[in-house]
Amino acid sequence: MSRRDLIKTVSIGASATALSAAGALSLAGHASADDLIQSRDSWGFDGWAKPVPEVDRAERTTFVVHWQGPKRNWVKDIVAGDEIENGPGAPKQMHEIAKDDDGPGIEYNFVITQHGEIYEGRGWDLLAGAVEGFNTPAISAQVHIREGTGPSREALDALAALYRRANQVLAEARPGGGRILHALEVSSHHAHYDTECPGPDLLDWVKNTGPGLRAEADARITPPAFPGRDAFQIGHSDPSVRMLHLALVRACYTRHPDDASRPNDLFTEATRLNVRDFQLAQGWTGSGADGYPGPKTWDLLTR
Ligand SMILES: [Zn+2]
Repeated sequence: MSRRDLIKTVSIGASATALSAAGALSLAGHASADDLIQSRDSWGFDGWAKPVPEVDRAERTTFVVHWQGPKRNWVKDIVAGDEIENGPGAPKQMHEIAKDDDGPGIEYNFVITQHGEIYEGRGWDLLAGAVEGFNTPAISAQVHIREGTGPSREALDALAALYRRANQVLAEARPGGGRILHALEVSSHHAHYDTECPGPDLLDWVKNTGPGLRAEADARITPPAFPGRDAFQIGHSDPSVRMLHLALVRACYTRHPDDASRPNDLFTEATRLNVRDFQLAQGWTGSGADGYPGPKTWDLLTR
């Protein structure tokens, strides 16, 4: 639950209308191309109220778990309770609350119910709005439980399945984009912001189940093949350069700053000097430390 989710301004009348429309759609819209995740279309998503930017898959690092939280964060039950806790009413309600709070719409990447249903919110490639200051690296999954309710076995199984799927999907680059090189860290909203979210049971899950899941997922991700020396020329853009920049940040070779505020596709003199620092630190000299990545530099930085 994020601060923006506070629902003081919710218009009960408008939401009730939207939710009964969603209820009617749920019978017809249940099927999805994905056997694990029910698409936005399946729960009656009616579009974003504001544009939502995309995030390159290479910039995702963390799987963040949330809950719905204390009762004060809940809208008065405007449809039958079970429809809000489970079924398409769950993501639909989150969507209405976020729009009423002047946001683009549902703030989580995915919503998981006690029945183990997984609903797509912002999905794999859109910027979420659930973790203040940490949305670019985060895939945010809300387990749709209130304070005082523990997650069901089905919900926890769905959470683990979603985590595994996240690493499969994000390890595949989209055209012109990057991908993750390492499994996502399993984390909680609490680790990134002063909040009780996701509550004691899910915090235990993050702490006790998360590391094993991560190790399992990490072993399945193959390192990227060396893209060839042509990808690394001053003034030349290539998706592999973004991967290189992110690897340099991770390895802390960032002494030579660039104009760009975020890792991008452009190989610059600053990129070359940072690569050079890395090569010199390996004890390499001469053409081995010219700042242009060869296969060995690439493998060491991206493994
Ligand atoms: Zn949260």
